Amino acid sequence: MFSKILIANRGEIAVRIIKTARKMGIKTVVVYSEADADSMAVEMADEAVFIGGAPASESYLVADKIVDAVRQTGAQAVHPGFGFLSENASFARRLAAEGIVFIGPNPKAIEAMGDKIESKKFAGKAGVSTVPGHVGEISDTRHAIQIAEEIGYPVMIKASAGGGGKGIRVAWSRKDVEEGFPAVRAEAKASFGDDRIFIEKFIESPRHVEIQVLGDKHGNVVHLFERECSIQRRNQKVIEEAPSPLLDEKTRRAMGEQAVALAKAVNYDSAGTVEFVAGQDKSFFFLEMNTRLQVEHPVTELITGVDLVEQMIRVAYGEKLPFAQKDLKINGWAMESRIYAEDPYRGFLPSIGRLVRYAPPPEGEIGPTITRNDAGVREGDEISMFYDPMISKLSTWGKTREAAIDAMGRALEDFHIEGLGQNIPFLAAVMDQKRFRSGKLSTNYIKDEFPEGFQGLPPTDFQRDLMSAVALSMHRTLTRRAAPNLLRDDWIVIAGHQSRPVKVAADNGTLIADFGTRKVKLETIDWRPGSSQFRGKFAGREFTVTVKPAAEGFVIRHRATTLNVLVLSPRSAELHEKLPPKKAADTSKMVLSPMPGLVVSIDVAQGQDVKTGEIVAVLEAMKMQNILRAERDGTIKAVNVKSGDSVAADEVLVEFA
Ligand code: ADP
Ligand code: ADP
Ligand code: MG
Repeated sequence: MFSKILIANRGEIAVRIIKTARKMGIKTVVVYSEADADSMAVEMADEAVFIGGAPASESYLVADKIVDAVRQTGAQAVHPGFGFLSENASFARRLAAEGIVFIGPNPKAIEAMGDKIESKKFAGKAGVSTVPGHVGEISDTRHAIQIAEEIGYPVMIKASAGGGGKGIRVAWSRKDVEEGFPAVRAEAKASFGDDRIFIEKFIESPRHVEIQVLGDKHGNVVHLFERECSIQRRNQKVIEEAPSPLLDEKTRRAMGEQAVALAKAVNYDSAGTVEFVAGQDKSFFFLEMNTRLQVEHPVTELITGVDLVEQMIRVAYGEKLPFAQKDLKINGWAMESRIYAEDPYRGFLPSIGRLVRYAPPPEGEIGPTITRNDAGVREGDEISMFYDPMISKLSTWGKTREAAIDAMGRALEDFHIEGLGQNIPFLAAVMDQKRFRSGKLSTNYIKDEFPEGFQGLPPTDFQRDLMSAVALSMHRTLTRRAAPNLLRDDWIVIAGHQSRPVKVAADNGTLIADFGTRKVKLETIDWRPGSSQFRGKFAGREFTVTVKPAAEGFVIRHRATTLNVLVLSPRSAELHEKLPPKKAADTSKMVLSPMPGLVVSIDVAQGQDVKTGEIVAVLEAMKMQNILRAERDGTIKAVNVKSGDSVAADEVLVEFA
């Protein structure tokens, strides 16, 4: 076996690979950029080699620097992780020429499958069903419109080199193609340095189901069943699970066989994933093959017991797969939530910054379930603008789908992050939704369930009681310290818009709140004044909520539900009722920057009349071009920025009269 490998990647996947290498007794080297000098991967690896500036184009994407680092440290093989150089055939060839092993598939397989146009041609020939469309390059907007109209709307415009949900746009009409084609092309050029575009039929309300395959250098290929990744925003996965609630045994076998046939046709000799879009009727079409380890591989590991990174290393070394298809079985159910630095309340826009608090839930066996958190960060680390804004991947396993969902809900409740926007409340909402639990998924799930954008979930009666009791307990502790003479037993609790009288009896960390209709009991496990997490036991069940003092009362969040809770004496409550409600500032006449970024263009001028839907400005952020449109008809009163300006989130770009 290898004695030392180099990991040409960063973040959680570098840490993930180090863990398996260590288990196998293999020494590890990581490379790192300026932005990652103090990273967890650098701290954990046996050796670390600095390779350049923070932008990936100056470090993680420079093959020469990786090869130099291998030479310098005497590593025998390179694991590329995902992204960066993982699907780059010339990098794999270069390593081979230098006598260094690439822990991934052979370069021919990468070439055949790594490009969307090429792989579609190949899959068609191998008898795999593909999405109807134009399998070839498209030269200009006119050509694009012609093709779109031949296929019939809706269509999907895609970058052939695309990945990570970037370089994809749906077009419902000619106008969408006119706007979308140049935008996808620019995005493809900027993100992948390759602006070849193709167009295929957009399958409406589909599900994303993919098959994990694994091959060795001796012609053996098996599949490790499917993952369903239908919960997506911006065509990028956020929640994944294995197996898929859609598939029956017959479809599973058919899909698995097609995936294996395709892999065998390219002599596939590593871990890879064959992605399909599937109809609700279980029809399925090949989408692309990812010739690398997949972000969501932990769910497959949890249901099969196979360490995919270990197998990748072993087959790269030349070992035979230690199992055949018949030896592989699905055991239980696994869920994965991608924790991102993004603001779910504002269209999931990236929200980078410092992890002022980072406290993941406990890992390992928890009762009859398992929790696993794949992270590459620690408290105090920064999620920078240079790389993917993923903070960690939280996975859970249970005997049944319900058990895995329940474990995920609970783990998310315990996951505490402060300092930047994060999507935990959104992930918790999905776990609590009946539709998700019923398994009726589609890639439209987020749009269907949150048509006005994510605003959290309304409180259940249980949550309202729980948050009221927490507020009463914190209020009591604070009052006892600050003004013990004001302590009393009868209070009014205003939770959200509901006001209720309550009688409180408290003693030694236990609080009984009598709301007249119901009596509830809260035990405090952990909270001190100033802490932002309150842990306790309520109605016999352990819970965690986040708490923040507000101008009046507390802001409390339990899972996806946030409430402002006030505890008042009956007299103060009377006065409170007479106060006029506060009005929010009127921003309807302004176009605000939804995130920090660079102004690419301002498409309106002062005095101009615009109609709803017209383009006002284009903003570039996190390598994506974002089109800001007028949300109303009106006349432009002022334009406050110009192209080339850097803007902050919420900065007023344009004002209407
Ligand atoms: P998966 O299909 O494994 O869920 P994604 O498609 O979301 O993963 O992409 C995996 C990771 O690799 C992400 O961090 C994404 O930003 C990155 N990525 C994917 N394709 C490319 C590419 N061609 N170049 C650079 N990064 C990429
Ligand atoms: P990436 O390389 O970015 O992962 P994919 O081609 O895998 O790109 O597409 C990403 C996602 O977009 C898929 O998971 C699927 O949800 C959606 N998608 C892609 N192609 C289609 C299509 N033709 N019809 C409907 N949805 C699609
Ligand atoms: Mg994909």
